[in-house]
Amino acid sequence: MIQKIGVVGAGQMGNGIAHVCAISGHDVVLLDVDSARVEAGLANINKNLTRQVSKGKLSEADKNAALARITLTTDYAAFKDRDLAIESATENEQIKRKIFTELCANMPADSLIASNTSSLSITRLGAATDRPGKFIGMHFMNPVPVMQLVEIIRGIATSEETYDSVRALVLKMIKIPVTAEDFPAFIVNRILLPMINEAVYTLYEGVGSVESIDTGMKLGANHPMGPLELADFIGLDTCLAIMHVLYDGLSDSKYRPCPLLVKYVEAGWLGRKTGRGFYDYTGEKPVPTR
Ligand code: NAD
Repeated sequence: MIQKIGVVGAGQMGNGIAHVCAISGHDVVLLDVDSARVEAGLANINKNLTRQVSKGKLSEADKNAALARITLTTDYAAFKDRDLAIESATENEQIKRKIFTELCANMPADSLIASNTSSLSITRLGAATDRPGKFIGMHFMNPVPVMQLVEIIRGIATSEETYDSVRALVLKMIKIPVTAEDFPAFIVNRILLPMINEAVYTLYEGVGSVESIDTGMKLGANHPMGPLELADFIGLDTCLAIMHVLYDGLSDSKYRPCPLLVKYVEAGWLGRKTGRGFYDYTGEKPVPTR
């Protein structure tokens, strides 16, 4: 049974993962490159737990117990007793490979390693470790404490035992697992991103305006957010990167990124995070930019 968990990367996903691990009763070590980053991660966890308390979803005592289960570190020696490490560092294969080398050197030989990568091959990442059978993908959704889904991705060498342990852990976190085989962008992004890309084509070809596309999909398909609004929320650079992963990984022209999406990214109009994407966010309410 997985009880002691180490999380690598205290960014927006990593601190959310540490949060849900701690709330579900696990002992958590959270590691990043320097103490300022782990402390910023913990400050975010504290803020999000406090929000859950104010909404009545958590008691003050549960919040304090969760915080008490989290230890901050910048040293992999703290992983020597971990049953599982969940890597959620920057989406860069070289960075991730270096982290796996550290984890393999410091963790028990029978412990498990998971990656929260959105786009890299679990099979390839696992092959770079000393334990491909004990390596797996755990793809959390953003924001982690709120979103119910975790995609579990089996690399070609991942053992049934590893899969069963990780699935049991996801259920203990009160999340819903879905199982995906290890092909580009897994399930959710494989389906979601081509839809967003098609929405950008619809805009590019003048079929509809930003507003008519988003209103059309909200009211016509019952989506809570329009596809262009959602693209701005995800980040247009991230959307483009995932389209490249699909296009390169599946060698099918149906995944070609829309030239208008490329243009927005070239302009630095990346969505909410830069204040401008398919909407302008600098005023009181978002205004379509086309
Ligand atoms: P982020 O930039 O918020 O956080 C990344 C963190 O990794 C930073 O705190 C950085 O300091 C740390 N880091 C970098 N190099 C490191 C190293 N060598 N050792 C330890 N820590 C290191 O990014 P994020 O959005 O949290 O993404 C993290 C992972 O989660 C990526 O693999 C990404 O693809 C994946 N992911 C992201 C989303 C999303 O919506 N943002 C959703 C699912 C999965």
